[in-house]
Amino acid sequence: MSNSLLVMKFGGSSMGSAERIKVAARICTEQKALRPTVVVVSAMSKVTDLLLETLRCAESGDSEGVERHVTSLRERHEQTARELLPASVVGSALEKVDGLLREFDRISGGILLLGERPPRSVDEAVAIGERLSAMLLASYLDATGTSARAVNAREVIVTDTCFGNATPLLDPTRERCSQTLGPLLAQNILPVVTGFNGATLDGRATTLGRGGSDFSASILAGALDAGELWIWTDVDGIMSADPRLVQDAVVLPEVSYREAAELAYNGAKVLHPRTLAPLVESSIPVWSKNSFNVDAPGTRIVPSISTPGGARAVTSMANVALVSIEPASAEVNGVAIMARALDALSRVNAEVLALSSSSYRQNFCFLVRKEELATAMTAIESGFALELAHGYLRPIDVDDNVGLLAVVGEGMQGSKGLAGRIFTAISRHEVNIIAIAQGSSELTIAIVVRRDGLERAVQAVHAECHMAG
Ligand code: ASP
Ligand code: MG
Repeated sequence: MSNSLLVMKFGGSSMGSAERIKVAARICTEQKALRPTVVVVSAMSKVTDLLLETLRCAESGDSEGVERHVTSLRERHEQTARELLPASVVGSALEKVDGLLREFDRISGGILLLGERPPRSVDEAVAIGERLSAMLLASYLDATGTSARAVNAREVIVTDTCFGNATPLLDPTRERCSQTLGPLLAQNILPVVTGFNGATLDGRATTLGRGGSDFSASILAGALDAGELWIWTDVDGIMSADPRLVQDAVVLPEVSYREAAELAYNGAKVLHPRTLAPLVESSIPVWSKNSFNVDAPGTRIVPSISTPGGARAVTSMANVALVSIEPASAEVNGVAIMARALDALSRVNAEVLALSSSSYRQNFCFLVRKEELATAMTAIESGFALELAHGYLRPIDVDDNVGLLAVVGEGMQGSKGLAGRIFTAISRHEVNIIAIAQGSSELTIAIVVRRDGLERAVQAVHAECHMAG
């Protein structure tokens, strides 16, 4: 397929109201006039949360809650359709809203009966948020003279069977892309594809994890050999720090794939951490842009940057917990304990954000998100039930009064004394450093500090490394 092709993704806030959808549509129309374009959309802001909450109500037998939430979903989408669409097409859009919400009702009704939320039913139900928003944008484009068609990614993105957090299978996806999107592009019709969802090879609905629409867009860009991928959000691009914490944080004009991935992984909200993986082979450039400020240049994300210089950005995560495991005596094989702990964590799909170990005491600690802590602890404690009962391991220690900051930059490995300066700057602000982890890529230094010192540490690092330029 032509590599002048542009894939654009609009996030939840860029799809959040009739007014926002009109802005998205204007961008689509402008770009489609210049080159073949494929669009990927998130659900309207907050809709995915509401869909999931509805299913939780259903599972717990709260039929009133289900009804209340479905009514509010209906009102939000009906009102948007009325505000957005010309009178001639409102009726057919309202019918489609109704049809999709009936599908959702059928699944939530099943969950209500069962008192259980099977992951694959959740995936099918939750994708309805994106199907609604894709329908709205495509209807508006079509009604205003830009031929467009809503496409359910279930027909396009093929994944494994890890429901709720699936991984794409790239070869079959490539095939489906050319079968499904190829003919639309050939007829000059703009495909508006649902983000977030996909299906297994045998057609069962899956989703790609929360915030996964960015990932959907990069999967499609990779599969279609696109020339560029533009990701529209509500911030001006990738920043040197969270501007709510650091007043003089700046937008970085250009970052490398690796830097963007590290930043996303360590808590920068602008990009889903898995976004860049499908693009590495084809080196497709990505732009992170703001649909609320379309004239701002945004951040360009490229395979490698020409002038890597020192530490460029610092991210932070407050909702994390540090888990420490320590053998009771030197006879216990610490490496085996570590291997089994990681194995237990991987079985429950818990993400290890940082890992640090000391060889003499054989103790090690790892950082997980607070929302995954309970699952992680259950897995670890049942994995080591015997060792804990017999006292081969000390009681497992959990410290949730911590925060993570990550300092990222391609050029850090070349900067002598940088780590020392960073630690000194942090301690000068009387913040205790609890653990440090540096990957062998030397692209990131992850630092665990006391929670109440996190903001000060971020500010100190930003200033010390002159990230504002
Ligand atoms: N709507 C999905 C979510 O909220 C996917 C996305 O927005 O990227 O997680
Ligand atoms: Mg997002």
